[in-house]
Amino acid sequence: MTLSVVVPLYNEEEVILESYTRLKEVLEASRESYELIFVNDGSRDKTWELALGLAAKDPQLKLIGFSRNFGHQTAITAGMDLASGDAVVVIDADLQDPPAVILEMVKKWREGYDVVYGRRVKRMGETLFKKATAKAFYRGVNAMTDVDIPVDAGDFRLLDRKVVDALKSLPERNRYVRGLVSWVGFKQAAVDYVRQERFAGTTKYPLRKMLKLAGDAVTGFSYKPLKISTYLGSALAILCFLFLVFVVIQRLFFPQTIMLSGWASLTAIVLFFNGIMLMMLGIIGEYIGRIYDEAKGRPMYIVAEKVNFDN
Ligand code: UDP
Ligand code: MG
Repeated sequence: MTLSVVVPLYNEEEVILESYTRLKEVLEASRESYELIFVNDGSRDKTWELALGLAAKDPQLKLIGFSRNFGHQTAITAGMDLASGDAVVVIDADLQDPPAVILEMVKKWREGYDVVYGRRVKRMGETLFKKATAKAFYRGVNAMTDVDIPVDAGDFRLLDRKVVDALKSLPERNRYVRGLVSWVGFKQAAVDYVRQERFAGTTKYPLRKMLKLAGDAVTGFSYKPLKISTYLGSALAILCFLFLVFVVIQRLFFPQTIMLSGWASLTAIVLFFNGIMLMMLGIIGEYIGRIYDEAKGRPMYIVAEKVNFDN
């Protein structure tokens, strides 16, 4: 087997058939031997039934069905775990990533690159809000992490077998796969493409999931939020000390001037500092929650059904 193409699907009944057809066309044109792996991430619509229908007629289409929704990053991890190709391509189901770009990726791979990632030079048909949050996401994550993760590159990429095996040796949960791919290293190249409009349906990445992903990205790849808390705390402590000195001097030498009298100013100060402390506790909590997930040692996902894997 040369190519494994992994497609995560969550409530994609409107796009699955078109997606399958387009991917099939491209893979047939590639003249490589291949397998298509559809990972159903606990869809609540007809996605699984449609996938079963397709797989019954096509032994090259393999299906993994999760027992519930485990999330996009987990779905692509499961696909990689069960893929058997010399290279694995991860692509979204909604045709926002044009399947034809896979051929360019394969070409780069043949030239000797181990990771070929798709870089979105432009995004079509997405709302201003989505574009703005995506932009802020990539820049924010970049500023807050220590590994060099390429901006504007999603999970649409080709990974050599070496890279996939390296990723499989990383057991961490709450994965940010793009970051892990940068972390493992290897020879990387980019292929530019224009991100298309979703073929049908709506985004399965609401703000809540974007924030979770950003949290995983930042906590997974840096201690910067903790360091910032330390610095901010130290700076505030120094400022408060200076203020204390100032108040004492004032009381001793200029007792007639009244600074910060009354409870309103006191309340403001107390609330402000409590707010900052709760925020810092929250930051620590983000890390502790993830440590707890690791300590429990639960499997990353549970597969309810597998189809066409035994031939
Ligand atoms: N997806 C998934 N599980 C989820 C959310 C999304 O498997 O919990 C899949 C989805 O079906 C799609 C891909 O991840 O194939 C990317 O999602 P989407 O296109 O909705 O995200 P966007 O392109 O809007 O960022
Ligand atoms: Mg999409």
